[in-house]
Formats: sequence, structure tokens, C-alpha cells
Amino acid sequence: MSDRTACEYKIDNDFIKCSHCKNTYFFKGSAMLNTAGMTFLGLDWANRTAITLMCENCGLIHWFGKAPIPVTT
Ligand SMILES: [Zn+2]
Repeated sequence: MSDRTACEYKIDNDFIKCSHCKNTYFFKGSAMLNTAGMTFLGLDWANRTAITLMCENCGLIHWFGKAPIPVTT
């Protein structure tokens, strides 16, 4: 499901920061958007996989409709 090691990610050339604790290291995962719940919310047009990044520090899960770029140093 998700990678074992946390990594920094970028979207549109900007580092992704946790919206809760400002941490920049995340565990990557994915989730299907095509669920009954998402259809109810009007997102069934997506019908694809969303990328999830779980904050390494506080565990908050961020959802992305396009793939974040891993930052390798
Ligand atoms: Zn966090």
C-alpha cells in the first residue's frame, strides 16, 4: 500500500508541507476515488486513483488528484 520510508514531495515546484504541523516528510499511498461516497460528493467523474501523503509526524493524510514529485537528495 504505502512506502516504508518517508520522503519530501513537491507539487508545482513547491514543497508540500503538512497543513497541520508543517512537516515536509510524508508516506505515500493511494486510494480509489471511485467509491459510493465520492460519487455522492459529485467526484465520480474522476474514477481513478488519488495519491495520498500521510504526514510522518502527525499522521494527517493529504489527498492529491495528480502525482506529487518525490524529492530525492
Ligand atoms: Zn503533520
